[in-house]
Amino acid sequence: MLPFSITASMLYNLTSCEHRLYLDTFGDPAQRAEPNAFIQLLWEKGTLFEKEVMTTLQSPFLDLSRYRGDEKEARTREAMAQNVPLIYSGRLSVDNLLGEPDLLRQEGTGYVAGDIKSGSGEEGDDDNSKLKKSYAVQLGLYTDILERVNLSPGRWGFIWDIHGKEVRYDFSQPQGSRTPQTWWELYQSYRQCAHDILERQQLTKAAYSSGICKLCHWYQHCLIDLQRTYDLTLLPELGRTKRDALNARFSNIQEFASADLSTLTHGKKTDIPGMGPGTLKKLHARAQLVAAGDQGRPYLREAISLPEHASEIFFDIEVDPLRDHTYLHGFIERQHQENATEQFVAFFADQPTAKAEQEAFALAMAYLQQHADSKIYYYSKYERTLYRKLQAKYPDVCTAEDIEALFNPERAIDLYFDVVLKATEWPTRDYSIKTLAKYLGFIWRDTHPSGAASIEWFHRWVESGDQEIKQRILDYNEDDCRATRVLLDGIRKLPLQSSIP
Ligand code: SF4
Repeated sequence: MLPFSITASMLYNLTSCEHRLYLDTFGDPAQRAEPNAFIQLLWEKGTLFEKEVMTTLQSPFLDLSRYRGDEKEARTREAMAQNVPLIYSGRLSVDNLLGEPDLLRQEGTGYVAGDIKSGSGEEGDDDNSKLKKSYAVQLGLYTDILERVNLSPGRWGFIWDIHGKEVRYDFSQPQGSRTPQTWWELYQSYRQCAHDILERQQLTKAAYSSGICKLCHWYQHCLIDLQRTYDLTLLPELGRTKRDALNARFSNIQEFASADLSTLTHGKKTDIPGMGPGTLKKLHARAQLVAAGDQGRPYLREAISLPEHASEIFFDIEVDPLRDHTYLHGFIERQHQENATEQFVAFFADQPTAKAEQEAFALAMAYLQQHADSKIYYYSKYERTLYRKLQAKYPDVCTAEDIEALFNPERAIDLYFDVVLKATEWPTRDYSIKTLAKYLGFIWRDTHPSGAASIEWFHRWVESGDQEIKQRILDYNEDDCRATRVLLDGIRKLPLQSSIP
């Protein structure tokens, strides 16, 4: 018998980090930080959205949201026995499983569970969308409970998403053309993993992941541990799976750095499961650079061409994913590589409306078209993806061809994918613009700069109209644009690996 029930939120967290489940259950609460402001905003918006959906719903439903614990569960079971067609905020438990689905809808001979999400029900773009693992495991848990109490008409669930769409999660389906495992099998594997962690049969370890850990309330706690043990996940692009494969031979960065690769490589294979010679060599070089401590200096793995242009533009956008709203297009212009000529130009969508978003996009496009001779630098594919999306949303602003021409590599360079990942090495734990520009000495004016924080500020700006908050958003974006310039200049000065004595 498990000491704790497995809940949907446990499985949700498990999809991003198994150690999080361990720490949330057995960790020292004194080591746990307050929830990040952005995460708090997500909760608040999620709750508000759920309430909004239910208050505007046309069909009748039974609202159990004011009840808690056993009483909520008793009322849920009673309602199901009475064939109530739709139950909001119920609670069900059986064996060691406990679920609180937002919705229980009567279908056929039983009930199907659903959740209301203030995000999209699927991930990826329209042409290539797929179900979300984090939602699937939650719906899987509810469905499992319904099945165990003989109230499930079949293995599926649904999400009511931010776009007003109902997305069906059919657990009999494979996860994708390249992933034959069904969604049900995926759910079962997570349930088993949660069970083993809660029974302390499975040991978990922190694994550094820049995008996930920085938003987690155990971040500082884990980071201290990871640094103390020189954990391999502190190497860029080396996540939990690769770390666990390497750990069979090397317990930390130093050991890996001093390994003789020739003993591990055999033609096109290596002794490390799932890792080819190319990846092993790259990660080994990275380990050596990090293990060198203060002596480790960044370098170019291969020569790259970054010709100097008379006019350059460094570009960064800010997007509120909760509203699916692009609120800021920021540009730093520089002439003749003279930093004194730098000028910040920004187009801000003051209101979270389609009109404001379209106007800011149109102004940004007009600005870029007026500067047709400037070379554009940006960091990651995000800007291009968003501009394609904005064009499809507002076809009056420009054509799809205009966007492709704008992001043609002759005109625009993605410093992250085309330069940093392709050709450089840094003695840092990740390759985010914050990490690399800070390494090069750049300092953000804001004490807590991050894209997530900017989104939280934007929400506060919309609610309050406080000009100071707006200025904070603009300053942050300006610094991000300038950081891209600092990085470009830094990369231009890097020595080629073959030239290092
Ligand atoms: S900080 Fe990272 S490794 Fe630690 S629990 Fe959170 S997500 Fe997991």
